[in-house]
Amino acid sequence: MLSDLKKIKYNKLGFFRFKKIKDKYLLTNDVGGFLFLTKKEFKDFLSDNLEKDKEPYLSLNKKSFIKKDLDLTESIDKYRLKNSFLFNGPSLHIVVVTLRCNHKCVYCHASAQAMDRTDLDMDKETAKNVVEKIFQTTSPFVAIEFQGGEPLVNWPIVKFIIEEAYKKNKKAKKDLEIRLVSNFSLMTEEKFKYLLDKNVSFCVSIDGPEKVHNKNRPMVKGNSYYYATKWSKKFFKLYPQLRKKGYIFKIGLSVTISRFSLSYYKEIVDEYIKLGFDDFYLGRPLNPFGLLKESFKKIGYTADEYINFYKNALSYIIGLNLKGKKVREKAAVTFLKKILTEKDPNHLDFRSPCGAGIGQLAYNYNGNVYTCDEGRMMSMMNDESFCLGNVKENTYQEIVGNPIVRTLCTASCLDGLAGCDDCAYKPYCGICPIYNYAEQGNIFGQMPTNERCKINKAMISFLFEKLQDPKIKEIFKKWLDK
Ligand code: SF4
Ligand code: SF4
Repeated sequence: MLSDLKKIKYNKLGFFRFKKIKDKYLLTNDVGGFLFLTKKEFKDFLSDNLEKDKEPYLSLNKKSFIKKDLDLTESIDKYRLKNSFLFNGPSLHIVVVTLRCNHKCVYCHASAQAMDRTDLDMDKETAKNVVEKIFQTTSPFVAIEFQGGEPLVNWPIVKFIIEEAYKKNKKAKKDLEIRLVSNFSLMTEEKFKYLLDKNVSFCVSIDGPEKVHNKNRPMVKGNSYYYATKWSKKFFKLYPQLRKKGYIFKIGLSVTISRFSLSYYKEIVDEYIKLGFDDFYLGRPLNPFGLLKESFKKIGYTADEYINFYKNALSYIIGLNLKGKKVREKAAVTFLKKILTEKDPNHLDFRSPCGAGIGQLAYNYNGNVYTCDEGRMMSMMNDESFCLGNVKENTYQEIVGNPIVRTLCTASCLDGLAGCDDCAYKPYCGICPIYNYAEQGNIFGQMPTNERCKINKAMISFLFEKLQDPKIKEIFKKWLDK
């Protein structure tokens, strides 16, 4: 239908991208507008034949798709708000206090090391320097996230960093959140109480029901599922009391989907609900970094297999909501916030440019600083391309001013990427230059053969399809109210 280019009235049209979804045309723009048109409406829009006092012209005009009445100041304000994450600086600070772990997860990247490797623990001097660097960020919000290995293996340093951070924050007065991502196998009553008293939030690794979880996450000695669920249940039991005392955080889930998980989408969702979780993130496909090609063949999957899993799981969750159960999938929530609200949720992997070095930093046990945890993972494969310096040797300015940061910014700016620049999903999407580097040999990804692009496209398409059903749209809107 677009072969008849002579009829397009370019001087009447505002900026937009479009995509055909089933029998409708989806129009999107960079200030947050989207609209579905029928084929006839789309043709009339392009040739300026829509009636000006009727729909869909009125909506097109309101959503900045018509050039004539475009309020440029309003558009600039909207664009600025959508991209306000650019004005802050690194807010997420991932601290790897040890590489040691008592698990042998099937998907674990080369970083997790044996329990006797005490030389791979962060020491006090490094930890002090890490905290000093963190508090030099320009971001008013600071999240310190302990990861590993298993962070509880190096408990004295976890405690030390928490104490130091609170001390520093008396002067810095940042909006500070401290998180622990853990398998909970080394949790004790004493540690649990300390962490809750210090207002630390938890994120526990649970991959689904016992058989799926333990297959993915075998523990060297013991039953991983037992520990992960024991402390989660304890948390949920205490939660009403904690809320009264002013503790606001809900326990989060860190979920990894392996090949073993794919057919258990229903059981995985049911397990989380049974344990008490009412939202969880299923939108993160397995990362191939650090995995030998042979291992990935065993536990990895194609983009299509993952898309199938995600659609099944999300359809199941939507079905539960239609029956009155309140439960949300967080990747969908991230995209829906971008689609349905004026603000951007600042998901560091789904923004343009991505958060590498400008939204987050990852600190390894030895003080080396990386653009993000994925950059650190590459270093575990002896590739230091994403190392920005060391907390003991470099200033904060040298770290964030490293040309690697600017390079990753450029490589993750969708406006400049072939394939993304004219994609209707550009306002909602994000790409990972480190994934592109690891999988396609270049931080500037080739979208036609990029598996992550295929997954993003499928997820966003699925949401737009569902948004056309008024009942499901209502459910999605309620997800955003929480
Ligand atoms: S990564 Fe793919 S889906 Fe996302 S904007 Fe680029 S082309 Fe579109
Ligand atoms: S490089 Fe990849 S993992 Fe790192 S912040 Fe960007 S999108 Fe996220």
